[in-house]
Amino acid sequence: MIGLIFGPPGSGKGTQAAHVEREFKLSHLSTGDILRAEVARGSDIGKEAERIMRAGDLVPDDLIIRIVQSILRDPNVSSDVLLDGFPRTLEQAKALDEMLAQEGHKVDFVIAFKVPEDVLIERLLHRAEVEGRPDDTREAIRERMHEYRNLTEMVLDHYRKGVKVHEIDGVGEIEEIFERIRKALLPAERGR
Ligand code: AMP
Repeated sequence: MIGLIFGPPGSGKGTQAAHVEREFKLSHLSTGDILRAEVARGSDIGKEAERIMRAGDLVPDDLIIRIVQSILRDPNVSSDVLLDGFPRTLEQAKALDEMLAQEGHKVDFVIAFKVPEDVLIERLLHRAEVEGRPDDTREAIRERMHEYRNLTEMVLDHYRKGVKVHEIDGVGEIEEIFERIRKALLPAERGR
């Protein structure tokens, strides 16, 4: 089973992805985490990605596609995967579909968190305050949201043509939100 999880910064995606991983026995693959690990290791990929990540830009499609491909082809990696942070562009989505099709697989479900922008901004501003990041201004946060929305909407539209995209209300308590996801995913889980 292959699932994708999308959510803007501050949507609680990381927390919920951990719950989904546990409950549905998927392995959670976050391309952001993978890249941060490469940077920490000082690998060639890490060196290439570091500068780009620091600037807040996306790493080139071919680089991230190669990374994901090598993970999905790794026989030690479970074929039940929850992808987080990938695909971020239409190009990446098409490459993912192709690599899955080669193995006779496809994306089975998509989760997309919906949280009103003012709620996200308040959460992120609070987080910035707690973590002591005074540079995380309302304007910068708003800009990141728009970036996310523009890119993700294209990717979601691509998947809406063939897969159930579950739009999950991301406002509420952690358990309450997870219950919404659980209910949404049960039919896919039964068909497994
Ligand atoms: P994230 O933790 O998902 O927010 O990712 C952190 C950073 O890693 C992003 O700002 C990008 O620079 C890079 N990154 C992660 N996933 C991708 C992706 N699918 N395509 C391009 N860049 C990515």
